[in-house]
Amino acid sequence: MSRSTFRILKQCRNCGNMFEAQKVTTLFCSHKCNSANYKLRKKLEKISEVGKEITQPQPFKPKVSALSRAMLQDKDFLSVKEISVLLGCSRQTVYTLINTGKIQATNLNKKKTLIKRSNIDKLFN
Ligand SMILES: [Zn+2]
Repeated sequence: MSRSTFRILKQCRNCGNMFEAQKVTTLFCSHKCNSANYKLRKKLEKISEVGKEITQPQPFKPKVSALSRAMLQDKDFLSVKEISVLLGCSRQTVYTLINTGKIQATNLNKKKTLIKRSNIDKLFN
């Protein structure tokens, strides 16, 4: 038995065909299958990388809303932004509530609108 006739029967990783490999490390029956699988592997790598980003445990970061709600508990006067956090709605919604008279607000100046906390409570009475 000469070395040149050394063959290993392997199954192609790409098409599944049995073929005689010349090297133990050969995984594909042809160059075509090799490059096809390479492309597929790259694609899968990309997908798994994306998956990693999603599934990777994130460092603990308290939600802004959760944090703010706790901080807002004891405040008597709240800004529109704080109200939106408190109510879990958009600032636009808060402005709508103010404009429709459902929430009584005070304009300190053009940029700052304050709402008394009890006015928010009245919303739900
Ligand atoms: Zn193949």
